[in-house]
Amino acid sequence: MPGIDELAAAVGRAGFSCTGCSECCRQVADDSNLVVASPPEIREIMAATGMAWEDIAEPYPDFIEDEKGKCYTFAWCIRRSNDACIFLEGGRCTIYTHRPWICRTYPFMLEGEELLISECPGVGSPLSPGEAQTIARLLIWRQAAEHREEECIRAHFARDALPGGRRTVIDSEGVKVLDG
Ligand code: SF4
Repeated sequence: MPGIDELAAAVGRAGFSCTGCSECCRQVADDSNLVVASPPEIREIMAATGMAWEDIAEPYPDFIEDEKGKCYTFAWCIRRSNDACIFLEGGRCTIYTHRPWICRTYPFMLEGEELLISECPGVGSPLSPGEAQTIARLLIWRQAAEHREEECIRAHFARDALPGGRRTVIDSEGVKVLDG
C-alpha cells in the first residue's frame, strides 16, 4: 500500500474536479462503467433507501462455468436502467452520501501501489493539497475494504459447496444461489 503523502502528491499532480457530466454513472460507448458494490455497501444502500437487495444489485455479468457444471461470479453491481445507474436522476446521484467506494473515488483507483486514472473530463483540474489528501485517504480505505472482501470470497470459495447447474454469486457473506 502506498504512503498517503506520496499518493496525495500523485493525485494532486493528476488533478481533478467533477464537472457533473455523470458519464461515470452511465454506459458510454464501449465502456460498461459497471459499479461493483460489496455486501456492506449494498446493505448500507438498503438501510438508507428501504429497497430490497435484488432491486439494488445484480450479479456481476461475467460468470465462470467450470467442467463440473458449476457456474459462478464473484461480485455484485448496482442495477441499471436504460444503461444508467438506477440511482441517477436528473444527472444527480440520489444516494450520494451512501454511494459505493468506486463512485467516491472515481476516476482514481489503486492497483497495488499504482494509481490508475480512468478517462474523465474532470481530470487535469487543479486540486488543493487538502482535497488531494482526502482522495488519497479514500483510495487507501477503498483498497483495504476490497482486500477484506477478496479474502472473505477466497475463504468461501475454498470452503463452501457450490451447487451444480445453478448460477451462484460468491461474496463475502457466502454462496448465494440465484433464482432461475
Ligand atoms: S451510485 Fe450514484 S454516483 Fe454511483 S453510479 Fe450510481 S448515480 Fe452514479
